[in-house]
Amino acid sequence: MNSFFYPVRDSRVLLTAALLLLLPVAGCNRKADSSADSSSSETTGSAAGPQTVSSHSSSPPKPRPTALPVPAEIWKEFSGEKALAEVKKQIDFGPRPSGSAEIEKARAAISESLAASGWDIEPQPFTAETPRGTVKFVNLIARFSATTARPAPATTQTVIVASHFDTKRFSTIKFVGASDGASSTGALVELARVLALDPVLASKVELLFFDGEEAFTQFTETDGLYGSRHYATQLRDTQRAAQFKFGILWDMIGDKELTITLSADSPQPLTEEILLSAEALGLRKHFGYYNRSILDDHEPLLRLARIPTVDLIDFDYLPWHTADDTFDKLSPESLRKIGAVTLFHLRKALGK
Ligand SMILES: [Zn+2]
Repeated sequence: MNSFFYPVRDSRVLLTAALLLLLPVAGCNRKADSSADSSSSETTGSAAGPQTVSSHSSSPPKPRPTALPVPAEIWKEFSGEKALAEVKKQIDFGPRPSGSAEIEKARAAISESLAASGWDIEPQPFTAETPRGTVKFVNLIARFSATTARPAPATTQTVIVASHFDTKRFSTIKFVGASDGASSTGALVELARVLALDPVLASKVELLFFDGEEAFTQFTETDGLYGSRHYATQLRDTQRAAQFKFGILWDMIGDKELTITLSADSPQPLTEEILLSAEALGLRKHFGYYNRSILDDHEPLLRLARIPTVDLIDFDYLPWHTADDTFDKLSPESLRKIGAVTLFHLRKALGK
């Protein structure tokens, strides 16, 4: 199971290999950037720049409980069980393809949990042309205020931590995406709860819940990664990209046998630093390099927004894109390990 030499089973690997041939230096090819943009029919939305709205914009945000002491070792606060409970909420909605009624419910559940931890949510709606026609997507952006300013200002964040919450649409099987969609999403909700224990740290992190990661038919420059392409384009066009030092993407992190397969395009030194964090927590054995690049939501952040972003993905997962990607394949311990490594690294990179 830990071998990285298994057959190519993902069109995104092939596409990325093709892109790499076209892009000797990732993120430095303006032609590729503009062609990707012009081929997208995403709406650009307001030119007024990022706006933050509360998830309950009709009523003022609830005051937070009296501040508690900030945990010295915040990575120990991440609960695999709490993360798994959030994962289960997502799975219980059933298949959650973009544009469905089920993904609306999934999004509402994410927003509710984030708001309960004191985060402000900016929904980022857009439409895009897909092989199934025009589809409405909604990313969720969560920010935390370390002061009394609410909703949280969009200027304090220097790091992005992201997941996709949509599941791939299948007509022949019931696909609930336990690891592919739900695992990283539930874990990110738990990460939000833990970060809120340290408001200053939380205010430096932008949480991204991407819609439309999955391709409707197969990954091409215009099918798949809809949410991250839209978000990265907005970051670039509003000049907001410059405030971010790095990004961490989570995808498929729930497998009981946790094997993080780092993509060949993992940026250095960020990846080495995260591996050092894993080493410090005795978890280095779960991380290895994949022998190819993996096309995922980190790619638009790298290419369009020029933000070094690493994809922590366990692509060594046999139930991938099958009806067997179900709750019983998951382990709270795997979620906890990724949560802890990420928190350890955030504390080290961002300080107190
Ligand atoms: Zn998938």
